[in-house]
Amino acid sequence: MHVFLSLGGNLGNTQEIFERCYPMIENKVGPILKQSSLYRTAAWGLTEQADFINQVILIESDLRPEEILTEIQAIEQALGRERKITWGPRTLDLDILFIDQQIIRTADLQIPHPHIQDRKFILIPMQEIAGTYEHPVFNKTMIQLLQETNDETAVNLIPNP
Ligand code: ATP
Ligand code: CA
Ligand code: CA
Repeated sequence: MHVFLSLGGNLGNTQEIFERCYPMIENKVGPILKQSSLYRTAAWGLTEQADFINQVILIESDLRPEEILTEIQAIEQALGRERKITWGPRTLDLDILFIDQQIIRTADLQIPHPHIQDRKFILIPMQEIAGTYEHPVFNKTMIQLLQETNDETAVNLIPNP
């Protein structure tokens, strides 16, 4: 299965935390096939906090969806996530965006992630690595969703060193 994951963080050295999480993802979930650039993003939802760094990656995985969720939550914990506030600061947030064209709506797992169309920090990196990928609920590509989103949050490419 093709799995798109979103990475985000705004506490500590986020780029270093991302570097540490890639091998953990590859060991526990599956090989990374594509990685977007990193983007610096003004906080979404709860805006009075430090900017986030965001990225989207594509992985190949044989795990069941619930197993993927369990594994990414273990990686978040291992890299020091502790967080009480919804949408508040965090060292590492890993969300599952898409699993192939599957639609899952359970209490613990929503696939596609319900806010993709509302978040430029997801749509811009998705467009970079999979612009013509179709959202299985809206039947629109990432390019179309980015054109149509109401999100005005600033998202800036971080140039490669
Ligand atoms: P948001 O989901 O709006 O980005 P968040 O990432 O801050 O908010 P968390 O506190 O990290 O939310 O996660 C809350 C719960 O969301 C998790 O315990 C998990 O069970 C559930 N969840 C549902 N769908 C997904 C998904 N696609 N990816 C990751 N977690 C999900
Ligand atoms: Ca999230
Ligand atoms: Ca999350």
